[in-house]
Amino acid sequence: MWYTKEPNKFFQQNIFLIQVEPMTILPDLSDLVIEQVSITNDVTVTVRAASPTASCPCCGTISKRVQSRYTRTLRDLPASGRPVELIVCVRRFFCQQSACVRKIFAERFPSLTLPRVKFTLRLQETLREMGFALGGEAGARLGKHLSIPGSPETILRLVKQPQLPAACSPRVVGIDDWSWKRRLRYGTLICDLESSKPIDVLPDRSGETVSTWFEKHPTVEIVSRDRSSEYAAAIRKGAPQALQVADLWHIGKNVADSISTLLARCRAEIRHGLHGQATPEQEETEPVPEERRRPPRSRSVELAREGRRAQKLDRYTQVVELHHQGLKAAEIASRIGIGERTVHRWLRNGSFPEARRRRRRPSLIDPYERYVLSRWQEGSRLGSQLYKELTAQGYKGSPKAMYNDLVTLRIPQSDAPKSIPLKPRRRKSVPSPPAPLENFSAQRATWLVVCHPEKLDQMSREELMLIRQASPSAETAYGLAQAFMQMIREHTGQQLDTWISSVEASRLPELESFAKGIQQDKAAVVAGLTLPWSNGPTEGHVNRLKLIKRSMYGRAKLPLLRARVLACWSRRSLLVQPSLLDSDVPHVARRAGASRSSRCGNRKSKCGRSKLPTTNRSKQEDEDVV
Ligand SMILES: [Zn+2]
Repeated sequence: MWYTKEPNKFFQQNIFLIQVEPMTILPDLSDLVIEQVSITNDVTVTVRAASPTASCPCCGTISKRVQSRYTRTLRDLPASGRPVELIVCVRRFFCQQSACVRKIFAERFPSLTLPRVKFTLRLQETLREMGFALGGEAGARLGKHLSIPGSPETILRLVKQPQLPAACSPRVVGIDDWSWKRRLRYGTLICDLESSKPIDVLPDRSGETVSTWFEKHPTVEIVSRDRSSEYAAAIRKGAPQALQVADLWHIGKNVADSISTLLARCRAEIRHGLHGQATPEQEETEPVPEERRRPPRSRSVELAREGRRAQKLDRYTQVVELHHQGLKAAEIASRIGIGERTVHRWLRNGSFPEARRRRRRPSLIDPYERYVLSRWQEGSRLGSQLYKELTAQGYKGSPKAMYNDLVTLRIPQSDAPKSIPLKPRRRKSVPSPPAPLENFSAQRATWLVVCHPEKLDQMSREELMLIRQASPSAETAYGLAQAFMQMIREHTGQQLDTWISSVEASRLPELESFAKGIQQDKAAVVAGLTLPWSNGPTEGHVNRLKLIKRSMYGRAKLPLLRARVLACWSRRSLLVQPSLLDSDVPHVARRAGASRSSRCGNRKSKCGRSKLPTTNRSKQEDEDVV
């Protein structure tokens, strides 16, 4: 880089004194006159104002009395890969309004740059766009490659610059949470569903934060959300006028999960029912003493666990049967549809492999573990009471988080169910031929049950028919699942009451648990099954937020993350607040150590980074360098 008041001295061989119309090189600078263009490794353009007068930024009085001159260096977008610098000749004028507080002012170039900035407006805009798309470090790396100057700090400062709030009076919004750190800290994203654009990112998902947001946005009429009871309560509090709509995808997933649990529980029934055999008695495990059990899980969690265990137990029984018939592990694995190593491990262990407790992740309840267990042993089993006691001791989680965390608390190993002993191996001469549904998997069968029948191919239809014929529970569940999916497809939520009555008559605990959950959130579910709104756009923007968050290695704080997530919200209309850049903003003391010798206009810092507008400059400085 170079700096001199006499550029000719250094670049005598390469100076082109040419008459160029301003429109050809700098199209937006009609109020400037180009005096000189120097082309070396860089392009240097010397410009001055075309007008002989300037108006005072304080009182607006036109003045033509020049007090002094200085030059100011600005960086611009590159030309054909060469960095471009503008040398701007700036005049200081006397203000001719005697009552004005500003005695001397420097002329301004609103079409070129802002006061106290070392970049042109279009370079700033480009750097900001790079920051929105890539973040600071990656944006600066790309800028270096494209000869666009700008440090990571500069780019981030531009991205975080205060911007005019977009006119935001949403009518239909979607709300969803996202994790800062999974299981520990969550934020909230709010999306305008009519324009499919994100409109706000909240620092947490607490009821207070969410209800406050809704109180500030009274225009909201419809809110689409997942099945979260905390959001439901917060929306009721903050926007009592709004209609809550449960998201269809979540409702569909809930019903599919219930069906999957039911099919897993009925695996043995389905497998044996085909051959007209009675379902063998499940081998009993020693019951766990009630008082030594862990705090209770929710009904649906317990049912899902029981379903998974029943499916695994049936598979284990099947492995043992086939092993007794003399089949090798590879053949057993292929017939049942599990891994060969699993078969080897089960046979080697010689007993039913109960699920082992997973490695615990840290949770908010960890510091209170001893207290909770002692209260449990004392017989205090009331969750709401326990929550009150824990919050009094400083517990920060929600009641729901506390219930979830309770499940993770350790219990003595002796409480774990006993395993089933393997019977001695008896080899039969002829193994039984492979039976249909021998490799039945609840997860795969769930898709057959909930899918539209017309979308199934011939083989899937036959498999589904076998499942329905084998188990009365599966047959009943199929009818109920299809009726529910029809409500989802055709938006006929008014039939929900009839469907719930059918579930109650079916005596299927998994679907009864699902229906009970729906009853607690019935208005929102009926709205979800009736209205066309979906929370899909919000889910999509949550994915986008995760990508942006991870592109900054999860280190961005909320202001930066929020700025980048909301950047797509009609970015062109987001302008830098003029009030924050204008001299009318109250300034605080001048930065310590700033030398008056920098009046020449070139105030490049030692590191070469330019300072963008901040509010902590003095008025005096404003007079000096504009
Ligand atoms: Zn004035």
